[in-house]
Amino acid sequence: MVQQGYTMGKCLTTLKDGTKKPACQATLKFEKGQWHRLIKSYHLSRPEDYLSIYQSGCNHDCLKCHSYEFSQFENGFWMSTDLIAAAVADYEETVTVWEPRERALMILAADLCHHCGRCVLEGRRGDLCPEKLEPEKIVFGPQGWGPARNIVAFTGGDVTCKADFYVEVSEKIKEQCKKMWILIETNGFGLTPQNLDRFQSAGVDSYWLDIKAYDPKIYKKLCGTSNKTVLAAPAEIIDRGFVLEVLSLYIPNWVEIEELEKIAKLVAEVDKNIPFTILAFFPIYKMKDGRSPNLMEMLKAYSTVKATGLKTIKLGNMGQFVKTNQDLDILLSVVGKEGIG
Ligand code: SF4
Ligand code: SF4
Repeated sequence: MVQQGYTMGKCLTTLKDGTKKPACQATLKFEKGQWHRLIKSYHLSRPEDYLSIYQSGCNHDCLKCHSYEFSQFENGFWMSTDLIAAAVADYEETVTVWEPRERALMILAADLCHHCGRCVLEGRRGDLCPEKLEPEKIVFGPQGWGPARNIVAFTGGDVTCKADFYVEVSEKIKEQCKKMWILIETNGFGLTPQNLDRFQSAGVDSYWLDIKAYDPKIYKKLCGTSNKTVLAAPAEIIDRGFVLEVLSLYIPNWVEIEELEKIAKLVAEVDKNIPFTILAFFPIYKMKDGRSPNLMEMLKAYSTVKATGLKTIKLGNMGQFVKTNQDLDILLSVVGKEGIG
């Protein structure tokens, strides 16, 4: 980032001996002619319904990180780009739903299945079932029932600021797989125009961009870095023909309606068709004293974001703000099944 004229990330990763190193040194290495990445795990994930590769090490240190055990600490096993591409090729053999490129996104998984497993276990559909898939497409994975879509996502810690690894692994995945889409789940910090050009040539298809705050001061306090490249990312991504979805977390007293509105407006100005998820915060890591938003706050956030003109909006982490059947009825009456992520 510094070489490209930006500021460094907040990326000091704690090693097993207690010392610290930047994530791109602690969890990334070039050996025997190829890049290796420290990986916590990889498997078919729910509710995403795709292969997720959970990476150790990150260029952010977010107070509310839900993956801090491996994003902030050296934690995992080394995988070369050859090994990762081979694992993706193996996963491709198990795919049950072939998505077109424009659906290479997390948010659209909920259109197909709500993961109750009833069609397989009981021969009938669950109450929230979108009724799109036959039971033969539903498989059991480490995180439950659902389809297996032809998407591989890099998730967990993010070192897209060091583009070389993602370029090499994307090229190998595209060489070894017939029709796997490559999605990067990212905080957007490393998505400089120069890196995006390289990801485009390497075959990356889509991004799930987590915009954590609009106000640079809030962002810095929450994540430890500048959000300059993050806020520029939606336009830069769409300009290059990638597929994009955006998410933001509703964090009471930090990122509330006003912030969410500014983020949604920025996204809507780029393209109103970009799907947008509002996720409910839950207390974790350095924000254990925080609280989740309640149903009314989430519904207000939904209507505020909708007023910006964005067409596809979902509310996620429902368990944090829907506590009773009455809550669920109110939620469904306002946002419908399609508004639940
Ligand atoms: S960007 Fe994501 S993985 Fe990295 S510290 Fe923040 S929440 Fe954790
Ligand atoms: S497709 Fe099957 S597992 Fe998925 S929501 Fe419908 S009934 Fe449940």
